[in-house]
Amino acid sequence: NEWWDRVRPAPEDPIIGVTEAFLSDSSPFKINLGEGAYRDDEGKPVVLECVRKAQAKIAGSEFLELVSATVGSNLVEECVKLAYGKDSNFVKERKFAGIQALSGTGACRLFAEFQRRFYPESRIYLPIPTWPNHHNIWRDAQVPQSTFRYYNNSTKRLEFSAILDDIKNAPDGSFFLLHPCAHNPTGIDPTEEQWQEISYHLKVKNHFPFFDMAYQGIASGNLDKDAKAIQILVEDGHLVACAQSFSKNMGLYGHRVGCLSVLCADNKQAKAVRSQFQQIVRAMYSSPPVHGILLVSTILNDPELRKLWEEELEVITSRIMRMRVVLHQTLEELNSSLSWDHITNQVGMFCFSGLSPEQVEQLRSRFHVYVTHDGRISMGAVTTSNVEYLANAIHEVTK
Ligand code: PMP
Repeated sequence: NEWWDRVRPAPEDPIIGVTEAFLSDSSPFKINLGEGAYRDDEGKPVVLECVRKAQAKIAGSEFLELVSATVGSNLVEECVKLAYGKDSNFVKERKFAGIQALSGTGACRLFAEFQRRFYPESRIYLPIPTWPNHHNIWRDAQVPQSTFRYYNNSTKRLEFSAILDDIKNAPDGSFFLLHPCAHNPTGIDPTEEQWQEISYHLKVKNHFPFFDMAYQGIASGNLDKDAKAIQILVEDGHLVACAQSFSKNMGLYGHRVGCLSVLCADNKQAKAVRSQFQQIVRAMYSSPPVHGILLVSTILNDPELRKLWEEELEVITSRIMRMRVVLHQTLEELNSSLSWDHITNQVGMFCFSGLSPEQVEQLRSRFHVYVTHDGRISMGAVTTSNVEYLANAIHEVTK
């Protein structure tokens, strides 16, 4: 009986597995469209200009100490303004509990832990499909999970009446995970009117809306517009929670900067909730790394850098949108017999192509094009020089 004999390999992560297969492919034509990482039109990783400038601004002022309470609470304050709007009463009256988190993943994990501690009887409802890691995160926090229908694979549209039915059929007081914008992987978001209806039905059942906002600014190019869903639910009287990430919209993937916030009925409740967040963090990792937090709070507090950030977000989203248009057009020029309108109807980082697992496999083996098994293509890595090759490959495997 040797130690660790009982340990078997864990199942392959659907996204990391694609990158590993890509790295071991020696073809010069290979393209990795698995990971949701933004690239410029040359296919190179991007360091935003606002980040470079913030970096220069903080150089020398950084100490290898814990993130100071001032910088930390300032980051949270700026984050809640981004999510709920700077004029929100919750923000003005400080009726929120917020804490910096290890990016979006860490914010989700903290919330899942918090949920289990205080509402062990409630389930989390996840959309089908969703970012696969949501399932892992709530599983590891030992929160029972269910799913709700979201997307119809054959119409390639929202399955709106099914969303409402599943909200109505969930036990009262359930938690619902919602993507406020740029739904991953489908790229399809409810309209404002649909959010109103969703809000109404969640309220009737006293469900709790948890927003995972990993792509603010990446759907429309505008930060406020992308947070509209959250603001609709808040105006409708919901107390909501929100996980925020700066991985995509500031390109800070490796720095792990994020925020978890929960709206509260009053200051007293906000203090209690925040103290519980602090206790959870204390035992998990004590405190977050400082550098990324300083970068983000520098950008959010400096009007010039903030403006530059907003301009750069528009550049990112318009480049992605242009690639969607070219991909769509090229498939039509190739006389594909299928409709590819969904490529341009979807928003955000991903094209949920509708390719079957067999077609995805053929993309890999015949064309060295790597996408996830569900047919999700990362548009952030499609460029002027690879878009025609990609269109041709898609056309060949769907003939
Ligand atoms: N939520 C969603 C929906 C995502 O797509 C991602 C990134 N793939 C995350 C959360 C977490 O990303 P990060 O931890 O890098 O912020």
